Amino acid sequence: MARIVVIGAGMGGLSAAARLAAGGHAVTVCEAAGRVGGKLASHEHRTAAGDFRFDLGPTLLTLPQVFEELFAATGDPLAAAVDLQRLDPIVRYRFADGTGVDTTSDARRQAEFFDDALGAGSGAAWTRLLDRGAGMWRAVEQPMFAAALTPRTAVALASRLNSLGDLAAIAPGRTLRALGRSLFTDPRQRLMLERYATYEGSDPRRAPAVLAVVPYVEQAFGGWSVAGGLHRLADALAARVADRGGRILLGTPVSQVELAGSRVDRVVLGDGRALPADVVVCNADAAILYGSLISPAPRRVPAADSFSGFVLMLGLRGRTPGLLRHTVLFSEEPYDAEFDAVFGRPGRLVDAPVLYVHASDDPSSAPAGHEAWYVLVNAARHGPDGGSGSLDWDVPGRADAYADHLLRLLAGRGLDVRDRLLFRTIRTPADLERDTGAPGGSIYGRVLHGSLGTFRRPANRSRVRGLFLVGGSTHPGGGLPLVAMSGRIVADLVGGASLRA
Ligand SMILES: Cc1cc2nc3c(=O)[nH]c(=O)nc-3n(C[C@H](O)[C@H](O)[C@H](O)COP(=O)(O)OP(=O)(O)OC[C@H]3O[C@@H](n4cnc5c(N)ncnc54)[C@H](O)[C@@H]3O)c2cc1C
Repeated sequence: MARIVVIGAGMGGLSAAARLAAGGHAVTVCEAAGRVGGKLASHEHRTAAGDFRFDLGPTLLTLPQVFEELFAATGDPLAAAVDLQRLDPIVRYRFADGTGVDTTSDARRQAEFFDDALGAGSGAAWTRLLDRGAGMWRAVEQPMFAAALTPRTAVALASRLNSLGDLAAIAPGRTLRALGRSLFTDPRQRLMLERYATYEGSDPRRAPAVLAVVPYVEQAFGGWSVAGGLHRLADALAARVADRGGRILLGTPVSQVELAGSRVDRVVLGDGRALPADVVVCNADAAILYGSLISPAPRRVPAADSFSGFVLMLGLRGRTPGLLRHTVLFSEEPYDAEFDAVFGRPGRLVDAPVLYVHASDDPSSAPAGHEAWYVLVNAARHGPDGGSGSLDWDVPGRADAYADHLLRLLAGRGLDVRDRLLFRTIRTPADLERDTGAPGGSIYGRVLHGSLGTFRRPANRSRVRGLFLVGGSTHPGGGLPLVAMSGRIVADLVGGASLRA
């Protein structure tokens, strides 16, 4: 049995902690915030009309099998802990020309939806994308997502794939945009595909084509929500850690990881206390670990540079007929303008961003006769004005003015809710940074553009004995399922390591 300290109770830290505690280790999770979940959070707002509840970060769950396996491996099944609900349709997309299409996990209906909405032949074109994504998934699932990846080179990657056919399937050297142009003649389908680059915080002009696995897994395995809100998954995992004998210390920031020679020795807490550790699993961003938590740092990791998100939570009177839970409203402006702004030097506000509206119909989300909406747009990270890809979101009046602007844009795209507004709450990239420690509110850590970039994240095993990295800033990447996969990879690495000197 090893003494294991996990720094951070996000999805990554909790999934590693649950497995390690179930494996019989003495696990202590130190979480800086006063709650578990990290970016997987919720927000409550009390009004005279009743209580509103919003998912604050993730709103769509994919690859449910990852969570089923995690719960089964650590105790009672997932279904005993949370109520997963399959969405059908998954997302409604609306384009600037007034047309729209829904996604579904029924491949035959999906093709029909496209043919009906965008014209004959578009269904077959989307099916070709899904076939392509399926080939990519088969090629990468085991070698990339189920195991640690080191060293981080294309040659190593190639050797981990099963065949040259697998290497060809992931189209190394090709961008997501190039793939879309080769598969689709309809610009609306190209837009839909390009938006999946944002699931990893990237720019489709530079993101690798292999991100086409994202629409594939969403449609092959479904899009899901959790009754009562996605954050319930974090609460259920925290309960699992405790059930298996682990401790979770909230309001307990770690300020230093101390070494004895070449291996971890203890972590020092914000209040000066120290916890001895045979193993440290760090769920804080890799750039923070190597930048300030460990000295001397065994390596340098460039600062997180994926973009952030600007969130508007709206409490609305009345109900919106025909609105799905997930709606994407594309802009009349070229998509490139959005990426030029959020990755700009300097970063800028996006004038006409793609608007994502999550209107929960969960009974716990709003009082009867009301709606709780979460509107998300991509946004430059928080940082000094003039910095590359960053913007000072704390400049007085900036966030409010931008919220007004987004409400006007929503109205222009057919969802005018200004006269139904009971309240609105803004969450900027600066708030995300303050709440979760994510540098600048970056959602996905370091963005890895370019050939095979997705696979070149910081490794799960560090160069320090006993020190491991988990979570969205490390391999295999961001988004809840991948982050949970990193928890499994780390638990396997710890299990295979010699823990005591
Ligand atoms: C607006 C938004 C929308 C999203 N939408 C989706 C979606 O629909 N679907 C999806 O799958 N994913 C989505 N994501 C991404 C997903 O939320 C993340 O990839 C995932 O939650 C990251 O988990 P993590 O464990 O890597 O990190 P985090 O959740 O950031 O957890 C890290 C934890 O470490 C703690 N910590 C940091 N430093 C210290 C320290 N020194 N000491 C102690 N504790 C520390 C933090 O407080 C935090 O709790 C979204 C994210 C955001 C922000």
